[in-house]
Amino acid sequence: MTEPSAFDAVVVGAGPAGSAAALALARAGRSVVMVERGPFAGSKNVYGGVVYGRVLDDIIPTWWNEVPVERWVVRRSTMMMTEDQSLAIDYRSHAWGVAPYNGMTTVRSHFDSWLAGQATEAGAQLVTSTVATGLVRDSAGRVIGIRTDRDGAELRAPVVIACDGVNSLLAKEAGLLPRAEASHYTLGVKEVLDLPAEAINERFGVRGHEGVDIEILGCTRGIPGGGFLYTNAETVSVGVVVSLPHLAEAKVRPEELIADLKAHPSIAPYLRGSHLREYAAHLVPEGGYDTMPTLAADGMMVAGDAAAMTLAAGLWLEGVNFAIGSGYAAGRAADRAIAVGDCSARGLASYRADLENQFVLADHKRLRKAPALVLSERVQQRYPGLLCDLAEGMFTVTNPTPKAGGLRVTRAAAAKHGVKLRELAVDTIRGMRIFG
Ligand SMILES: Cc1cc2nc3c(=O)[nH]c(=O)nc-3n(C[C@H](O)[C@H](O)[C@H](O)COP(=O)(O)OP(=O)(O)OC[C@H]3O[C@@H](n4cnc5c(N)ncnc54)[C@H](O)[C@@H]3O)c2cc1C
Repeated sequence: MTEPSAFDAVVVGAGPAGSAAALALARAGRSVVMVERGPFAGSKNVYGGVVYGRVLDDIIPTWWNEVPVERWVVRRSTMMMTEDQSLAIDYRSHAWGVAPYNGMTTVRSHFDSWLAGQATEAGAQLVTSTVATGLVRDSAGRVIGIRTDRDGAELRAPVVIACDGVNSLLAKEAGLLPRAEASHYTLGVKEVLDLPAEAINERFGVRGHEGVDIEILGCTRGIPGGGFLYTNAETVSVGVVVSLPHLAEAKVRPEELIADLKAHPSIAPYLRGSHLREYAAHLVPEGGYDTMPTLAADGMMVAGDAAAMTLAAGLWLEGVNFAIGSGYAAGRAADRAIAVGDCSARGLASYRADLENQFVLADHKRLRKAPALVLSERVQQRYPGLLCDLAEGMFTVTNPTPKAGGLRVTRAAAAKHGVKLRELAVDTIRGMRIFG
């Protein structure tokens, strides 16, 4: 393990970003070692539960025939709730239930092991139970490898790809990550609950391998964030993702927020009789485009959550596909740089250019203003109640009093929640500009 420049590339982390980077390099015939602190790929990794596989189409054609899937998502619901009301946009698609599919629920230890397996089958070397403890630099300050916790052993290569997840130790040490601010992170907590497949099918209105994804706003006691409920084969995942500083300020324990969500009248019937199998918590880098680190330095690149690439823009919580997209692009950029013998920041610049031309940075750039809107006080604390009251006003039959009409109901709901119609109009236009 201590041979100088024994490899063409060192990848740190065997999450989706790391495995994709290693796969790209191995396929290009480069010698690449992937270092993972856990005993196997995915053993330490936490997420909500849905992977969007379109990013794999070009990397592993017909991946859906071999990926370890729990259920294919055919129903996607976006729900707003108050303590005792809920309003949902519930979309269902037959097309999402057949190849090439859209989203799948999958268990991270299974999915990450599968993707790491693709990399090792292509020739990458995976070293597990090993922590990268720092960078090795040459006298000119260029990164030329990493130190590990195996008696301080070093792994040297002309290029290191840091895929070590949120709050990346290596990106920080390289000075690539701007000063980490708590407001750039959310805390995700989730429970996995055992529930028989028949109960899931009956309660969520699905069958066979069909699954459901419910994203929820208004379930976090006003703490900026949201909740989710996903169906796996014989378990469901329920959790919340909330702003770290606001959570600390509110002095609420995240488990209490999950307990609230599980007890909500619109959620509780789905979960009746379920049993807690596991609980997990993890940080999410939700700051978006403006909080990303510099992506390449001399001898080094950063990908996936290490580069703050999770897209958390209200309507979406996608990180695994962004990690795969960026990891694969980093692996390809490393191969090109090695081929011309220039692994300087300049030689690795094609990485960023590649990401700008595909969804990874294009989506982030387009949605860069989304986190501020979605996490704003009005969207978080006033609109869920306003919209639920609007629905209640429209659908409650008031006979013998005549129907109130949309504008009057909207005015009443807005006034009740302390929102001016002008503010509502401004936020609607802002939302259309950001998401339209
Ligand atoms: C609660 C929650 C819900 C989420 N829901 C979703 C969702 O439904 N869908 C979705 O697409 N995304 C979701 N995400 C985001 C998603 O989990 C991440 O974007 C994704 O895991 C990023 O992949 P990665 O490879 O960059 O990092 P990670 O998956 O974090 O992998 C990093 C790897 O590096 C290893 N590592 C770290 N440090 C070292 C070190 N020093 N030495 C060696 N190894 C190291 C870790 O063990 C790990 O295996 C969610 C996240 C959270 C927390």
